[in-house]
Amino acid sequence: MKAINYFQRTETASQEAYINLQCNCILCNTPLEIKFENLDNIEIKEEANCPECEIRTRAKLYPIQ
Ligand SMILES: [Zn+2]
Repeated sequence: MKAINYFQRTETASQEAYINLQCNCILCNTPLEIKFENLDNIEIKEEANCPECEIRTRAKLYPIQ
């Protein structure tokens, strides 16, 4: 049981690291403002902006299926 718990904690920690990487500015570590935009009901546009640096760090398009 201890081994299983260890792996569960490890998995959780790595997921948190991944989320922080995705949601904090790479330059100043400020939490990013992420917004989703629906483009003509065809695609979802995802943008992440840093309110401190005012840079757009990420913009993705997802097709709506
Ligand atoms: Zn920043």
